[in-house]
Amino acid sequence: MSMATTHGLESQVPGLDIRRTDLPTGPNVVVPPKDLIPPTDPEISAIEREMTKQQPQKNVSSGGNPVANAEPIDKRPVATADQFAFAFDIDGVLMRGGKPIPEAVDALKYINGENPYGVKVPYIFLTNGGGKTEEERCLDLSRQLEIEVSTGQFICGHTPMREMVERYNTVLVVGGEGEKCRVVAEGYGFKDVITPGDIIKTRQDTTPFRKLTDDEFENSRARDLSNTKIDAIFVFADSRDWAGDQQIILDVIMTKNGHLGTRSETHEEGPPVFFSHTDVVWSTSHEHCRLGMGALRASLEALYKTITGKDLATTAFGKPQLGTFQFATKLLQQWRQEIHGINKPPGTVYFIGDTPESDVRGTNEFDRISDATWYSILVKTGVYQEGMEPRYPPKQVTDDVLGAVKFAMDREFKKNPKEFEGEKTEQSGAIYN
Ligand SMILES: [Mg+2]
Repeated sequence: MSMATTHGLESQVPGLDIRRTDLPTGPNVVVPPKDLIPPTDPEISAIEREMTKQQPQKNVSSGGNPVANAEPIDKRPVATADQFAFAFDIDGVLMRGGKPIPEAVDALKYINGENPYGVKVPYIFLTNGGGKTEEERCLDLSRQLEIEVSTGQFICGHTPMREMVERYNTVLVVGGEGEKCRVVAEGYGFKDVITPGDIIKTRQDTTPFRKLTDDEFENSRARDLSNTKIDAIFVFADSRDWAGDQQIILDVIMTKNGHLGTRSETHEEGPPVFFSHTDVVWSTSHEHCRLGMGALRASLEALYKTITGKDLATTAFGKPQLGTFQFATKLLQQWRQEIHGINKPPGTVYFIGDTPESDVRGTNEFDRISDATWYSILVKTGVYQEGMEPRYPPKQVTDDVLGAVKFAMDREFKKNPKEFEGEKTEQSGAIYN
């Protein structure tokens, strides 16, 4: 956006009295509901407080940006860009080893209005990670990133599994800390959730080298295994005990139709196995990437082949699966509509990730079939590092997430210099759910 358009915006839309009829062309910018609707719902109020906190207090250094001489932005209403949006991966982009990456907090402030353009940009989070309820993870993120994160803008690896509660009654849920994934699965509506701990508690010789801790023993539920039929296996989060979990998963896959204790002769009768993602490695505080769920999957498939001679077909959610990006499209549409009052799809979604195999690959492949442009930006703060040759080349590489959001916003406003000359639409009835 040029300086002229900045001024154009201010002269055309002084204050908040603008009405649709005042302006000749279609909506390019919408005023956030906070400016037009008195918050009544306590949840809206919480969001509004957060938004108010994000209002820029002074002009943001533009760092060579073409709008260096723009008016101080604290006098401008913060508008919401409706032509584009952001989707963020979390680990290796915003967080690393449980701590925020330093540029992440600034990047989120930037797209919440503390930028030379004086606009906010809607965004969602799309992580392969999991192992907690979406509510719990959003609370963690809100605290860590100093911004309010709602479950309405958050998808983790196992989120799509909630769509399968009607199809499978009794499910084996694997991975995660303690009982957390059982809680998640039951929260999704799965009616009968079994964990490896339940099986070990009932039959301690199931895993000769794994003994349950006192807590695990107490929380696990003994049950009549000979009368248990498992309909599906869901690996919700990273296994804390590969040997024991793989033993139990293999036992179940090798049954006749999921009846525990039986053995299939054809090795083609076991229940399906679902993984919440397939990342082989991921970025933590360690200087080298650590093994992830995709590594467990590869290991399990290799073991199955070794033992039965058959290939094991498993299903995975998460990035780079296109279904996950479709899910994200739906979520982003709802979020833009309900929170920002935008009733049309974005022209471009910038996806910022650190893993070429999941983030870049998924974004590029989805871009080919999606109405919106999905634009991949790879950062160097996680799995991908300077000097590597990414197996799936992104459209853009930046040092970190702050560089990525600045790049995207500069690109948008250069591409659409009129973005901010148009009308500010009056929003009515934006609802936060
Ligand atoms: Mg990542």
